[in-house]
Amino acid sequence: MNRKAATLSLIFAIVAPPFACGAAKSLAQTRARASTPRSFGQINLKRLMSADRHPGEWLTSGRDFGRGYYSPLTQINLSNVSRLGFAWEYKTRTVRALEATPIVVDGVMYTSGPVGEVYALDARTGLPIWTFDPHNNMEVNQHTCCDEDNRGVAVWEGKVYVASYDGHLFALDARTGRVIWKVDTLVDHTKGYSSTGAPEVAHRVVIIGNAGGEFDARGYVSAYYLNTGKLAWRFFTVPPAPGKPYENPELKKAAQTWDPKSDWKMGGGGTVWDAIQYDPELNQVYFGTGNGTFFNREQRSPSGGDNLYISSLIALNPDTGRMIWYYQEVPGDQWDYDVVQPMILTSLKIDGALHKVILQAPKPGFFLIIDRKTGKVLSANPFVPVTWAKYIDLKTGRPVETPDARSYKYSYNGKRYVEPSPMGGHNWNPMSYDPQTGLVYIPAIENGQTTIFSGNSILRAWDPLRGKAVWNVLQSDWWDRSGVLSTAGGLVFQGNGVGYFCAFNARTGEKLKQIFTGSSIGAAPMTYEIDGVQYIAVMAAWGGGGWNFAHPASAAYQRGNDGRILAFRLDGGPTPVPPLLPPLPPFPKPPAQTGTPQTLQQGARLFKDHCSSCHLNMDRSLAPDLRRLSPETHAEFQRIVLDGLFQNAGMPPWKNVLSAQDVQAIHDYIVSIEWQAYNVQQSQQKK
Ligand code: CA
Repeated sequence: MNRKAATLSLIFAIVAPPFACGAAKSLAQTRARASTPRSFGQINLKRLMSADRHPGEWLTSGRDFGRGYYSPLTQINLSNVSRLGFAWEYKTRTVRALEATPIVVDGVMYTSGPVGEVYALDARTGLPIWTFDPHNNMEVNQHTCCDEDNRGVAVWEGKVYVASYDGHLFALDARTGRVIWKVDTLVDHTKGYSSTGAPEVAHRVVIIGNAGGEFDARGYVSAYYLNTGKLAWRFFTVPPAPGKPYENPELKKAAQTWDPKSDWKMGGGGTVWDAIQYDPELNQVYFGTGNGTFFNREQRSPSGGDNLYISSLIALNPDTGRMIWYYQEVPGDQWDYDVVQPMILTSLKIDGALHKVILQAPKPGFFLIIDRKTGKVLSANPFVPVTWAKYIDLKTGRPVETPDARSYKYSYNGKRYVEPSPMGGHNWNPMSYDPQTGLVYIPAIENGQTTIFSGNSILRAWDPLRGKAVWNVLQSDWWDRSGVLSTAGGLVFQGNGVGYFCAFNARTGEKLKQIFTGSSIGAAPMTYEIDGVQYIAVMAAWGGGGWNFAHPASAAYQRGNDGRILAFRLDGGPTPVPPLLPPLPPFPKPPAQTGTPQTLQQGARLFKDHCSSCHLNMDRSLAPDLRRLSPETHAEFQRIVLDGLFQNAGMPPWKNVLSAQDVQAIHDYIVSIEWQAYNVQQSQQKK
């Protein structure tokens, strides 16, 4: 809630960068500058299919329809990357995760930030052309996972599409940022849905999914007509409770794989919270689905079953919303093995025959090569240690589970050792495929249930055809796993959480350049060329699922988490670095406790249900630490929580969910944890 205040408290150490800083200029000034006639957001199918002939553009999250996060540009290359320096920055004025990869077309950069803010910038200078903030009139969902992150926009035929955290889909005018249409994509706001993924344009529709499989969501994707926002179709990924009508015919088959006595009020899961990808070559759309809810199959579907279509890849016809094929990667999942990770669509020669394929390195740890036409698995090799399954039977596509993979009763008892952990062998951070080297660069995670807070993170160059690693670079720490870009300049680029932006030799993994930015980076970089200059850009801020507190070794912990878009070029200047944060001030003396044991208990329960996923109340957590509330904030507590007094700083109004008495109980509970922290501090001072 003090997002803006936190931003103001950090003043960058190096001022007057060689190019103007975006946030310092008003939009009015920059409109004048950007008034030269040019087109806005004019990406269409013809342009997308000829992306390689216009390598200066970056037209989708991963540049082209195949999403290889690979660029044919060569101005920055092996021989000169040592000269890479700072070109410009844009400050997003946010302190939550930045996960998107910008799109650049006709000199304009479009990208998104927390809760679905959108920034349209002059890609030469970083100056803003317009910004869009969905915070006003945000709806509150009772539970949301896992941070207010957003993984990008779609740009198509003059419109920019973005989903806000509360599940609304917006079509914005690419020239002005004006809202052309807006729809509510959630079927039930009392469930734990939120939208964090990027929308995808597929022929005549734009498709969006949502998150919530950690709570009580039932997964689905919705498709809306591009010009009107009218719902074209909706595809649910898991069946409804017995007796209710099947919304799509594919659910009849799915229902046979669930115990009728499943815990249907939990929704079943199978949410589509990341990559949805259109294949214009085959007019098909692909997406992966998340874990089942509950994680543990014994709790979810007591008699077992595959529980279709959780942990599955699904191909749909975007014109009808009907399924073309599915491939369940983890039948009856119980390890939180979402398979929503970004896919790369390409063509590979396998056993002498050219196949149109999907490449995916999903959470369960097997690197998959899948035939796009049929969904058949052509290859499946573990790219990280895997102990839940011995191998994937290529005849049936089914994993052969190890005998004791399910016997540990879903507890971290330290005895059973299941790999990968629920973090997965690879998560949302995009990987990159370089057709010159034939290698896929994966931000891989090696860790299991017993090593979930240790293990290794590795930038792994993976040969997909031979199924083995060619080189590995150990990351700075086990939680580092940022997205990757490769280029025809023979280079691989990756940022990291401790604040460096690095370039590696694509064939050997040798580190050729590192730039200290002072900001944590998790997103994938991208590159583009304007007026003969190649730029490399990346969004920088800490956060994301499970990470709404900063690790003490991260740049975010040491220097704050002000969001930035950073651009680099050859012979650029020194990169501005945020100063170290001052030490935390002592806990202030809290107000007197007026709550009763009953209200404290009620407040603790409400806090856990509604507040704790953002407010961790740890040192340097991303949402405000409520152990340190000022007297003014205490005085305005009801208005802040119920009426949305700090709505524009990210704290939505809760009046549809909580009563004034509920909020009073939450306040009583907060006063109690303030006194706890204060008393510990005072007793330590006495020692
Ligand atoms: Ca999950």
